[in-house]
Amino acid sequence: MTNMQQTTATARGPIKSYDAVVIGAGVGGLYALHHLREMGLSVRVYDGATGVGGTWWWNRYPGARVDGPGSPFYCYTFSEDLVKEWDWAETQPSQESVLEYLEYVADRLDLRRDIQLETWIRDASYDEVAQRWTVETNAGERISCQFLVCAVGTLSAPNTPDIPGINTFAGECYHTGRWPQTPVSFVGKRVGVIGTGSSGVQAVPEIASEAAHLTVFQRTPQYSIPARNRALEPELMQHARENWEAIRAQLNTNPVGMPFKFSERLAREDTPERRQALYEDLWQKGGFHLLFSSYADLLTDKEANRTLADFVRGKIGEVVRDPKTAAKLMPEYYLGTKRQLLDNGYYETFNRDNVTLVDLREDPIQEITPTGVRTATGDHPLDMLVLATGFDAITGTLLRLNPKGRGGVSLKEKWSTRFDTYLGLMVADFPNLFMIHGPGSPSVLYNMPLGAERESAWIGDCVRHLREQGLGAIEATVDAEKIWDREITDLANTTLYPLTDSWYTGANIPGKPRQFCVHLGGPLYFQRINEVAANGYEGFAFEEDRRVETVAAL
Ligand code: NAP
Repeated sequence: MTNMQQTTATARGPIKSYDAVVIGAGVGGLYALHHLREMGLSVRVYDGATGVGGTWWWNRYPGARVDGPGSPFYCYTFSEDLVKEWDWAETQPSQESVLEYLEYVADRLDLRRDIQLETWIRDASYDEVAQRWTVETNAGERISCQFLVCAVGTLSAPNTPDIPGINTFAGECYHTGRWPQTPVSFVGKRVGVIGTGSSGVQAVPEIASEAAHLTVFQRTPQYSIPARNRALEPELMQHARENWEAIRAQLNTNPVGMPFKFSERLAREDTPERRQALYEDLWQKGGFHLLFSSYADLLTDKEANRTLADFVRGKIGEVVRDPKTAAKLMPEYYLGTKRQLLDNGYYETFNRDNVTLVDLREDPIQEITPTGVRTATGDHPLDMLVLATGFDAITGTLLRLNPKGRGGVSLKEKWSTRFDTYLGLMVADFPNLFMIHGPGSPSVLYNMPLGAERESAWIGDCVRHLREQGLGAIEATVDAEKIWDREITDLANTTLYPLTDSWYTGANIPGKPRQFCVHLGGPLYFQRINEVAANGYEGFAFEEDRRVETVAAL
């Protein structure tokens, strides 16, 4: 394998040439760079931000922190050195500390020399004759590569709602996913937050503690569980360091790649009193334990789900003193079928004198004016508007890139009605294009750094296979995509997920095809993709390597 970057003169100016281009310097892209480079490939990473870190670089809103597995498990697992060298301070690390960690990894693995920041890829197209991709940056630079790895992020294309007058607001206005680099002060200000998903519930308590007044505009109430963030006990970190290989093996076999003990017991096997006691215990413990470690059928059985939903609704009623406000905060969907929220004092915030909840179901937004938000019942004057309105999730960033594959077909055309992929890693008509955390992979319902490692390993093995066999291109077949789609849909249909309008199902973006495109298999998924590889990459078509030495024709 070659690790030399080359520059060739072409009719349209010089073109740099690499074995692989990785788009995105977040959790997925950083690891892909490291892995492919260790294999001896020449690799270049491009990212539009001014720093590495991806989602952790952009989402700097107050209160942003890991609400998943917590420390020290939301991290790369492949290197014991990294585990030994990095100290996590809290069980739910802050955005700042995750970003510091990723910056540290970039320095420690000497990744920065192959990363070009402040560079958006504005075009990517496949040349069928050369069996190579040409990508073009916003500065007009053109780069040729055999392999294009899209590590563009699952929650990176912000959703700015199409509310009448939104661009007329004269005060400060920030989307949580595009938070400014410079500090934002809420002191003495009347702030409005639209959106009460993970970002909203993390930001609301922080903003309320500073602002003169906070108005929370809620469309759909959601269930939130206390994260109970706390300082990480040094003994826990020590234990993890001493037993990392065993922990890593456990994470690899866990359904979500996290250190949760999954219960095998069904909710109906316990009396209501025992269930209540268990829920109470896990509520006090905090985090995802309540959902994962209580009963096995919460996400598959409506009645089981109701028992936990009732419990959490009861908690909202206990915490929020004003019964009318509490009633507005009570969710109705199947708990856990929207991304489960974890918070640090969200419901308690509604007991503050400087916080108002506006229930948009009974009092909808009519327009945004230069001075605030006008709802059906009147004006809400604001100095600042925070849009915690989420993302065009999983597929949005790939579609924004919109690569052009075989025959010039664009990804937008290919995915106009359904997000077909094979293994969540490749797409028919897009040879040599790999996705990390793509639709059809476990992505957002799995420990994302670990998922990135395991998917990058598969991509690396695939590249090695091609090189060893003298092959120039690999491409998913349409038949394999259909089988994969069936597998994902069948798995999803064993659960309650598809019954809820959520960003998992694409329901948050008007006009987006409705499809649950997360593979729910966890370790089964990785077993499947590795079996495919072991069986000679069944479901893929190959082409002999017909690369020409020169790219002058480009
Ligand atoms: P989200 O979960 O999609 O929530 C968006 C919120 O905005 C919802 O409450 C939604 O209401 C509301 N909304 C959207 N359009 C609206 C409109 N036109 N009018 C009124 N309300 C509107 O987005 P998010 O909170 O940014 O979270 C996205 C995902 O990012 C999370 O689920 C999570 O996976 C990830 N995340 C992770 C962390 C972490 O710490 N690890 C933190 C933050 C986010 P409806 O429900 O009615 O649509």
